[in-house]
Amino acid sequence: MTVTSATQISSPVLVAQGLHAGYDGVPVVHGLDLVINHGEVVALLGANGAGKTTTLLTIAGLLPPISGSLTVLGELAHDEGGRGRRVRRNSLTRTWRRARRGLSLVPEDRGLFPGLTVNEHLRLSRAKSNKSSDILDLFPALAPLRTRQAGLLSGGEQQMLAIARALGTKPKLLMVDEMSLGLAPIIVERLLPLVRSAAAATGAGVLIVEQHVHMALAVSDRAVVMSRGVVTIQGDSRDLEKRSDILESSYLGED
Ligand code: ATP
Repeated sequence: MTVTSATQISSPVLVAQGLHAGYDGVPVVHGLDLVINHGEVVALLGANGAGKTTTLLTIAGLLPPISGSLTVLGELAHDEGGRGRRVRRNSLTRTWRRARRGLSLVPEDRGLFPGLTVNEHLRLSRAKSNKSSDILDLFPALAPLRTRQAGLLSGGEQQMLAIARALGTKPKLLMVDEMSLGLAPIIVERLLPLVRSAAAATGAGVLIVEQHVHMALAVSDRAVVMSRGVVTIQGDSRDLEKRSDILESSYLGED
């Protein structure tokens, strides 16, 4: 596991304990335990419908937890009203508060504005001390495209922009949902290591949801595999790379 020196002295960026999450009070994620430390890349894997996106949406605050405990960037989800008060909050307020504290989500659909240029996206998200040129150092392929509208970029370029924009906020916890969706494997092979480098460079904890299992294991420190809303396997990515048999069983629901 890659651990920055900050890991030893600061608390994890995410702690979920016995988390149940879902829709309209009906759980589709059952009793999730998950910890992510600073500078650590964790891959969340599993077959379609396993509950990966639901987990990300709940961590981002777009869905309220149904039960269990969720601490995002040091704040317990139930205490987000401040001063320890338990306050009911709507999803936009929760998401805004978590974003202010340093959470950034790259959603499955990338969430770009087709009519805005690369520069405009980077300007919109940029943390005060983060120059867009620093971010473009990580994504040099975007530099010549600064004035191009996002809607005119290729799929891979759009994904780079979505990640660059997320990094522009200097996140402490970065979550990327299905980066590879619609992209050629060769592009994914180039993009995933950039997320790894970003974690190393910034000390952010990273949670990636990815269908390309072997690529995800190659860039992550740890992996968590879900099946029908339950964690079936978790462990060191290097160990799991050698156990394709148990990964396959989990994907096929043979738990
Ligand atoms: P995929 O890899 O296909 O994106 P996933 O692991 O991200 O799948 P989720 O999208 O979290 O899975 O879905 C988990 C379960 O929740 C599925 O059974 C799905 O049908 C259900 N679900 C997803 N969105 C909703 C919703 N808005 N309302 C009710 N149920 C939903």
